[in-house]
Amino acid sequence: MRTTGNVAWDETLEAYKGREAADYVTVVAATTSVCASCGAPLEPGAPLSLAVDITDGTDPDGLAYLVFDPSVCHRQCREPAVTVSKTSGPVELMSVGRQFTLRAAMTGTKDVPVLAYTVDPIVLFHQAGGESISAHVSVLLTVGFRLSLSPELDEILQAARPVDHGVACLVSQQGFISHEIHEDVYYSRQLDLHDPAHTAWLQATRHSDVLVISGDHLDITSSGLDLRAAAHLGTLVTGWVPVGTLRQESGQAP
Ligand SMILES: [Zn+2]
Repeated sequence: MRTTGNVAWDETLEAYKGREAADYVTVVAATTSVCASCGAPLEPGAPLSLAVDITDGTDPDGLAYLVFDPSVCHRQCREPAVTVSKTSGPVELMSVGRQFTLRAAMTGTKDVPVLAYTVDPIVLFHQAGGESISAHVSVLLTVGFRLSLSPELDEILQAARPVDHGVACLVSQQGFISHEIHEDVYYSRQLDLHDPAHTAWLQATRHSDVLVISGDHLDITSSGLDLRAAAHLGTLVTGWVPVGTLRQESGQAP
């Protein structure tokens, strides 16, 4: 057993996370607020355990991947653990995100629509030499997104660059949005046309590209967005994505 700060963890994790194991432990603990066993809040400094379920899989194309499912618990509720299960088959992915508008007061010229989203669970591909790389981050980097080392929105706004052709944020007249990369949907949502925040976002897309903030370890809740863990782990990517018109509704909103 190893201990990082107040978090005990199973050293088996090192075989899968390598040098970044301790960083991963710190970030997961810092972004968890309640015990996965008893549901009570995690008080600062309380002795904690990290349990990680790892899926060691091979997708239909023969590519080896890893999925990490961490649980943070009071140490008295659960011992640190790593469990590994082997599987073959694709991973079921789910997008988690929110959109908000940066007002002209902050951007200097016009309202900017922002889409922040991540994909759950985090899938890593093995590379030669034992390193692993995030499937989601590597897809985004190959289509023109850039890594951001800063979690601050004003710095992201200044540093973001336009993405490559083939990446779009499509918006329908009825308020359905679909972020697509080479026609694969990475995030979609039906906005509420009666919600002023949603209509402000749609309005902003008429005058500005969408600032897309994505990657792994984004902490996204209905009330806020915390990019510090993602920036710290080097898994935060950003880009300006052009807006297109979605002519047909893409079936049921998720
Ligand atoms: Zn507990």
